[in-house]
Amino acid sequence: MAEKFDVIVVGAGPAGTSCAYTLAKAGVNVLLLERGEYPGSKNVMGGVLYRKMMEDIIPGFYKEAPVERPIVEQRFMLLDEKSAVTFSYKGLEWGEEPYNNFTVLRAKFDQWFAEKAVQQGALLVNETVVTECLVENGKVIGVRTDRPDGDLFADVVVLADGVNSLLAKSLGFHKEFRPDEVALAVMEVLKLDRKIIEDRFSLEQDQGCTFEIFGDATKGILGTAWLYTNKDSLNIGVGAMLSGLIKNKIKPHQLLDYVKKHPIIRPYIQGTEQQEYLAHLIPEGGYRSIPKVVGDGVIVVGDAAQLVNAIHREGSNMAMTSGVLAAEAILEAKAAGDFSASMLDSYRQRLMDSFVGQDMKKYKDATHHFEKYPHYFEKYIPLMNRAASQMFTVDGSSKWEKQKKIWTELGSAKEKWKMARDLMQAWRVMK
Ligand SMILES: Cc1cc2nc3c(=O)[nH]c(=O)nc-3n(C[C@H](O)[C@H](O)[C@H](O)COP(=O)(O)OP(=O)(O)OC[C@H]3O[C@@H](n4cnc5c(N)ncnc54)[C@H](O)[C@@H]3O)c2cc1C
Repeated sequence: MAEKFDVIVVGAGPAGTSCAYTLAKAGVNVLLLERGEYPGSKNVMGGVLYRKMMEDIIPGFYKEAPVERPIVEQRFMLLDEKSAVTFSYKGLEWGEEPYNNFTVLRAKFDQWFAEKAVQQGALLVNETVVTECLVENGKVIGVRTDRPDGDLFADVVVLADGVNSLLAKSLGFHKEFRPDEVALAVMEVLKLDRKIIEDRFSLEQDQGCTFEIFGDATKGILGTAWLYTNKDSLNIGVGAMLSGLIKNKIKPHQLLDYVKKHPIIRPYIQGTEQQEYLAHLIPEGGYRSIPKVVGDGVIVVGDAAQLVNAIHREGSNMAMTSGVLAAEAILEAKAAGDFSASMLDSYRQRLMDSFVGQDMKKYKDATHHFEKYPHYFEKYIPLMNRAASQMFTVDGSSKWEKQKKIWTELGSAKEKWKMARDLMQAWRVMK
């Protein structure tokens, strides 16, 4: 007879493992299926892991987890061709316990985290692709895998299979995502001596920092580049909306090559050696792209549910929280012996009440607004750079004259009104 579990979780990324860990800890018989050779082997992230959500699952996790560096500085660069307006927050409190966030390498971190779920009693099976959900009378009753005799049964199946979520799509929970709902990102891990990293980025021993880079890094397309410090490597990457890449006929690896050679960025990565090259989609459709997340016997979590806050580059934390909330709803359903969509809907409600739903709602129009009006990146960032250059160049003209020049460069009265209106609209979609 085919095997039956209480819960089958598909995908051992942060969402699936958080769910499996929480369920196993509560004594639930849970199977965690992963297509990769090991959890994390195929997973990609710029690299910032948020402490709070992970610590809610495993208190003090950072004392043993393979984290790279606690981040003490977050720097933002508005990049033009030969200049950058830069601002940052450096907080030494983030370098001390309990810390704020860490850089991680997913291949190491996911593996460690899944092992923790196994220690709680979850059964992890790697190198197993779930090819479809088994459905009977409209209820998901299990999964089909690519293994011989690979049908497995459960009261609830949790789909934590990441951004494409072919499984949720096959259940009719969402359509194929449009190019304006996903970003395509490429990144490299670049080896560099830890002492050089600390000197180059003005860090004390073991401290880390992050650079988020806008504007010229994506040639004005909606997206960002990033540069993060690991223990003895750097993560450098670029992600841009797929729709923008298609429209501008540019490939992400061309953007990454451009960023690596950019005169403002180049000095930070000098002398590095490429260790890894990775590419992945990021779900950035926002609140309006969240698909149906609950059905009879099935729950969708993490990237599969489009839970990414692109404005704050948060995804792993939302994945973890959604995984935990799914587990809590399943525990309630198990106690009631009812795995129907109406019972499991408490997951959706918890999700929407949590910071995940609230933040997704807050920025519901942001991505689409900046996608629709690319001049924020194409025009205003270069303008800010020219204004800064004008203001800070000491050339004998008075500061009044300089302000006048900047004001003239902003264009006609009509263009200035347009700019004021754009700023108001940007404020509105971000507030
Ligand atoms: C380039 C990039 C940079 C990012 N930077 C950050 C960042 O700095 N900070 C942050 O918080 N977030 C970041 N994110 C987002 C973050 O990585 C995701 O939000 C997060 O990984 C989602 O977790 P998940 O578990 O839902 O999905 P994933 O991490 O994608 O995990 C899905 C898992 O399911 C497995 N799987 C898929 N299909 C099947 C199947 N059919 N059968 C079995 N297994 C399957 C996969 O192998 C994988 O292990 C970034 C994303 C990208 C691509």
